[in-house]
Amino acid sequence: MSFSTDRPRSWQTCIACGNETVDIDPATRCRQCGGLLEVRHRAPDITRDELLRRFTERRGGPRGAGATSGVWRFRELVMPSAELIVSHPEGNTPLLHRTALDEYTGIPELLLKHEGYNPTGSFKDRGMTVGVTQAVRIGARAVACASTGNTAASLAAYAAQARLAALVLVPAGGVAAGKLAQAVAYGAQVFAVRGDFDDSMRLVEESGARLGVYLLNSVNPYRIEGQKTIILELLQQLAWEPPAWIVVPAGNLGNLSAFGKALRELRDYGVISRIPRLVGVQAAAAAPFAAGFADGFRTRHTVRAETVASAIRIGNPASWDRAVQAIRETDGIVLTATDDEILDAKAAVDRAGIGCEPASAAAVAGARQLARTGRIAPGERVVAVLTGHLLKDPGLPATEPVAIEPTVSALERAIDAAARD
Ligand SMILES: *Cc1c(COP(=O)(O)O)cnc(C)c1O
Ligand SMILES: [Zn+2]
Repeated sequence: MSFSTDRPRSWQTCIACGNETVDIDPATRCRQCGGLLEVRHRAPDITRDELLRRFTERRGGPRGAGATSGVWRFRELVMPSAELIVSHPEGNTPLLHRTALDEYTGIPELLLKHEGYNPTGSFKDRGMTVGVTQAVRIGARAVACASTGNTAASLAAYAAQARLAALVLVPAGGVAAGKLAQAVAYGAQVFAVRGDFDDSMRLVEESGARLGVYLLNSVNPYRIEGQKTIILELLQQLAWEPPAWIVVPAGNLGNLSAFGKALRELRDYGVISRIPRLVGVQAAAAAPFAAGFADGFRTRHTVRAETVASAIRIGNPASWDRAVQAIRETDGIVLTATDDEILDAKAAVDRAGIGCEPASAAAVAGARQLARTGRIAPGERVVAVLTGHLLKDPGLPATEPVAIEPTVSALERAIDAAARD
């Protein structure tokens, strides 16, 4: 029996005006008001325990397309109607703990969810597997994005797997070498825009419809669905016992939005009863969202962004409205870290034998600030998300080794000289 009030399994809703559209609508903004879209799913028609049992079973399940993906393991909460999945697979990233970083930050137990372990080296793969699966689902021929680098690398890889053409716009001179190399190697058409990321973003949004490409920046609500699984997976790793705080670098604000949505849904489905506080960390000279937080989000801020952390060098973040909701609903905080603090935190993560790219270290710098200003109570557990791999940005800090002649005495002299430095 079916009722006229029955909902489809998934649909899209504009978070600004409430306008609804079908799940396979290729528009990545509201057709009525231009607002941001959000994917909604009917609550799974199984119990909470059955849902968690499936997640557990799939975690150790057989290898094969999607089977051990840390994204598709949670498909009921991500894209329940997916059939032809484009998966590397991705996710299944570790939750690391190092005493050296507890000492550095002053946090009793700091856990690091290292998203640099994804196939192209950043969390962007979690959103991209869902975004490119959706592209195939709606019959797109070509996909596109503007990028500070990691979205480009990820889009290029998943588009190649799905045999779709990929168009990438990057800010000229504003992308780390490792990321650009990936996008080119995977076969994307890459153009360097004379301008910054915000100019590239505006251009790809303005030209997308005209060029007939499906836009896969994180304005695309399916990217957000995939990125929710950072939260799902880390909570599964903690036996569904939420930490007190989750700290993440904040640039275009896709992750903050995804984290807020994931936590809201998990609470609504009865999986968790307590919501962790989200902390977004921006670079001090690329901090429009922190300025918004400071004035209670009364106005929307934009800045000309400048920071060594190129992945968060963004002055006009696309997912602003969704991220405001995430901060409000989780009693969240937005902090800033200076470039010096970011590079200092990166050195600490690197020396602990873990390593990450500069933007990722903003999370550790932010966690350290929280502890130093006494906002973390004794016994509170903190998870910081490391968003990208060390090798993404190998030029920071400069690493030219001292050149020596191939003799034992030259080596000895060089070692002595280095020890004196
Ligand atoms: C994309 C990216 C970010 C920024 O994430 P948003 O979701 O845009 O806020 C941070 N760090 C790295 C390494 C990234 O690639
Ligand atoms: Zn709308």
